[in-house]
Amino acid sequence: MPKKKPSHTNPLAHKPRSGWDILAGKEARIDAFARDYIRFLSTVKTEREAVAYIRDRSTLDKGLLAFDNRGKALALCRTGSRPLSDGIRIVVSHLDSPRLDLKANPLYEDTELAMLKTHYYGGIKKYQWLARPLAIHGVVIREDGTAVNVVIGEEDGEPCFTIEDLLPHLAGKAQYGKKLEEAFQGEKLNLIVGSRPDLKAKEEKVKARILDLLHRRYGIVEQDFTSADLEVVPAGRAREVGFDSSLVGGYGQDDRVCAWAASAAILDARKVPYTTIALLVDKEEIGSDGNTGAKSIFLEEVLWALAERLKQDIAPARVLYRSRAVSGDVNGALDPDYPEVHEKSNAARMGYGVCVTKFTGSRGKSGASEAHAEYMGWIRSILNRKKIPWQTGELGKVDEGGGGTVAKFLAEYGMDIVDVGPPLLSMHAPFELASKVDCYATYLAYRAFMEES
Ligand code: MN
Ligand code: MN
Repeated sequence: MPKKKPSHTNPLAHKPRSGWDILAGKEARIDAFARDYIRFLSTVKTEREAVAYIRDRSTLDKGLLAFDNRGKALALCRTGSRPLSDGIRIVVSHLDSPRLDLKANPLYEDTELAMLKTHYYGGIKKYQWLARPLAIHGVVIREDGTAVNVVIGEEDGEPCFTIEDLLPHLAGKAQYGKKLEEAFQGEKLNLIVGSRPDLKAKEEKVKARILDLLHRRYGIVEQDFTSADLEVVPAGRAREVGFDSSLVGGYGQDDRVCAWAASAAILDARKVPYTTIALLVDKEEIGSDGNTGAKSIFLEEVLWALAERLKQDIAPARVLYRSRAVSGDVNGALDPDYPEVHEKSNAARMGYGVCVTKFTGSRGKSGASEAHAEYMGWIRSILNRKKIPWQTGELGKVDEGGGGTVAKFLAEYGMDIVDVGPPLLSMHAPFELASKVDCYATYLAYRAFMEES
């Protein structure tokens, strides 16, 4: 019998390989990384909480310097063997996530219910926030300047909050008959916070009782809401998802998955040739403006502080011009239920590793800081050499929509930068999904970038 010719794949062609296949045998590490990440996601629901959690963890490492910007942005720095004037390495990611913020005068009573008015933050699909348990996280500054930290709605035995939705029986005209963006209005996203009257009060009895409870529990009065950052977020823990526990489900993975991977990478990185910064910023979801966002001069301030600490004379603009950066942010994964919004050969897939996004933007790459071929080549060579699962990804079909990251704001300094992060399903939803292997590959990619000479 003639020998059957073995079928070979074309060595010239590129065939994507699953991250689970490339990292076969490393399941224990993938799971351990996911466990720590799930704990972080479950505890941390705001940019302030993220800064505190990551800063606390980094204090164990004496080789790391931490610079804090108003408790909402953080730079973790590891000194390299080369002088700052050779340029630095930066992994930048954002700590803020879409949510509902309380208005300055939020508390009112209607229909014998006490309610809090909200103003949504970032790109949300409003219907996703209705009829589900919600928590309040944040800080209130009292008139005497003292701060009251608030976290309520997470633990068993404490109450949560919710926004009600119209019953289907009566939703015909008000919701079903309308376009999605008209059916769900931001001004109707009011949080139910109480219903029991203060029987001794003369008017607004339910609101009166809530004010009394707030005063007794937190020592705050109604006007204190005007000096507060209070965020309404999905209540509950992040979870493993699937019979095989292969996915992580939870709120705020855009972009705390990259912030977590970047901080883990700089903690674990040893002997970085260039001084390296894990830069964690705020305000990305609303355009990166503000003094804690990527458009602020925080990075320059960190560089000045580093130069002082290391006693090196630098011109910050030149250092940044010579620097290389990775913008750690998520991409949209190929959606099995809505494949029509993707172009399959250029969409990132769950489980295929960290996604390198050459450009973002919309309508002909508008608003993108596209990475140059040379820089893509350099990143690609690192990832291949270290056998880290990676893929490319474009956010949707041409002209389907689009998005952006902080990459373009750092590119203004002249540094090379490219987006590198895991793909997500249900991005910006109260329960986002990531693949455990992609999360781990993201950590490996950031660490390899930091340690590359
Ligand atoms: Mn993001
Ligand atoms: Mn986002």
